Amino acid sequence: LALGVHRMARRDAIVRRLPAVETLGSTTIIGSDKTGTLTENRMTVTRVWTAADDYRLTASDPTSGFTGDVTADHGPDSDPALTAVMTGGVLANEAEARRSGDGWHTTGDPTEVALLMAAIGAGLEPEDLRERHRIVAEIPFESERRFSATVCENANSDDAHHVMWVKGAPEQVVAMCRWLATPDGPVELDPDRVLDAARAMASEGLRVLAGAQRRLDQPVPPGSTLDHPSELVLTGLYGMMDPPRTGVREAIATCRRARVDVAMITGDHSVTASAIAADLGIADVGATVLTGAEMSEMSEDDLVAKVETGRVFARVSPEDKLRIVRALRQRGHVVAVTGDGVNDAPALKAADIGVAMGRGGTDVAREAADMVLTDDNFVSIAAAVEEGRVTFDNVRKVTFFLLSTGAATILAILVGVWLQWPLLMLPAQLLWLNLVTNGLQDVALAFEPAEPGVLDRAPRRRQEGVLSAVLWQRTVLVGVVMATGTLALFRWELDRSGSESAAQSVALTTMVVFMALHVGNSRAETTSVFRLSPFSNRFLLIAAVVAMTVHVAALYLPPTQFVLRVEPLDLAAWMRIVPVAGVIVVVVELDKAIRRRLTRRV
Ligand code: ADP
Ligand code: MG
Repeated sequence: LALGVHRMARRDAIVRRLPAVETLGSTTIIGSDKTGTLTENRMTVTRVWTAADDYRLTASDPTSGFTGDVTADHGPDSDPALTAVMTGGVLANEAEARRSGDGWHTTGDPTEVALLMAAIGAGLEPEDLRERHRIVAEIPFESERRFSATVCENANSDDAHHVMWVKGAPEQVVAMCRWLATPDGPVELDPDRVLDAARAMASEGLRVLAGAQRRLDQPVPPGSTLDHPSELVLTGLYGMMDPPRTGVREAIATCRRARVDVAMITGDHSVTASAIAADLGIADVGATVLTGAEMSEMSEDDLVAKVETGRVFARVSPEDKLRIVRALRQRGHVVAVTGDGVNDAPALKAADIGVAMGRGGTDVAREAADMVLTDDNFVSIAAAVEEGRVTFDNVRKVTFFLLSTGAATILAILVGVWLQWPLLMLPAQLLWLNLVTNGLQDVALAFEPAEPGVLDRAPRRRQEGVLSAVLWQRTVLVGVVMATGTLALFRWELDRSGSESAAQSVALTTMVVFMALHVGNSRAETTSVFRLSPFSNRFLLIAAVVAMTVHVAALYLPPTQFVLRVEPLDLAAWMRIVPVAGVIVVVVELDKAIRRRLTRRV
């Protein structure tokens, strides 16, 4: 497990609780945030909609300006709504952009940074604007609220007044508006027209925000708490692009192949979410999206029934996320879920594997998580699932090796006692066998690389024990073969030489050679050892060679001869031991071949 943790850390997943490594290998569904985990969270405004026109910005350089493409009579210069919507993007905004060299140095929420850059593209100067319109009160953005608002003073000396600027999710903002800004002044707002335009942008996978403003009749005292905005003038819509992270598509395809489902859980609009989900291969185009609003109408039982068909969850609050996790677990899923905010902590705790973000996340989320991603990237979750499988495989291999060789030793000694033969091995020899030769190899076995096809099979069932039925049966088989071989050579040597210590030396050496060969058998459950490169796990090769060398040295060097009470073996003894020990490879290979046949027939 510790080696697994180490390997995961190298692939940007830090495991905070050791048992999580094991659980990761049996994960059946990953519920991932969209923004920042599946996508880069590098927003660029590429579209701006106003009542007059539909503008496009170049994604590569949003500061290069606009091109209108719907009507020719209203360009950026003759559309006051465009100026208003871009100004709102600067004033209801906490991000900063400073010119540095040729480019811009930005800090803040990527959504807000995108608005700043677009405003610069529209020819506005954010610093200057903010200077002239100081903020007197604000409602900061929060995921649950889905909008932010500021009240700024308009320092025009002859007509000083306050203006409220709002930006946020279109449904939210439209509900606060009564008017729509047009080149000929505000007109009565038709909510459907704006929401349709928003949906059209969202269907291209863009995140859509709406902007609105209102001139206040009465100045607001500085720092006062603002009422819920209403009676606003809608100025326009921003559509921003957030490209998928590189490698995410491939990682999702790999997860699917490994029969690990991927679901998107996002606060964004359902149309945006489903467009991006389709693009990434999470869901088919037009697949059903479950929204937070729909979920709040559902009973727990309804949700449990529905949750499995949904791959996209949109406009979801942290409480909804918790309900999704619970429902999935109730369906028997092993759930990994991501989260970054303070309010995500309950969902992270409720999941089998809570995954927090190392860069963007809060400390509270990290504390509640089982795993932290150092790069906030979905690809690292997929990698951790793979490593979890490899680690569990290796735990299984080591366990099988230890149990089967242990069974062999115990069986051999017990049968020897039962036959009333002299003692097969002295305590010191047994210790030697367990610590020095066997001990080196079982540690090295934990370094086994991934078997080919770890990601082509279904997740291990959680209830499945460390050893599979196959391995239990093989443990018995190996125990019997090794014990028989050791006892036979012991008896032979005893009868031939009449020396107990010569016979014990043969028995001990037989076991040592058996184990050095059997550790190769343990490298794969069904794959033939001859199909595995001996160099793919260098540690194991070295461990086996060292174990043999140390043992041979112990046989021929006087001090260890004295301590272990062993005698040097002659060539004839070696000629018997090596072929007999080789039987273990033949037997296990036969067992593997038969099992492969059987599973193929099934
Ligand atoms: P996500 O899961 O994509 O991170 P969020 O909870 O951050 O979702 O955002 C939810 C919605 O709130 C977005 O779709 C957007 O409409 C709106 N929104 C996001 N960021 C801001 C912001 N800084 N100011 C105003 N509205 C925002
Ligand atoms: Mg967000």
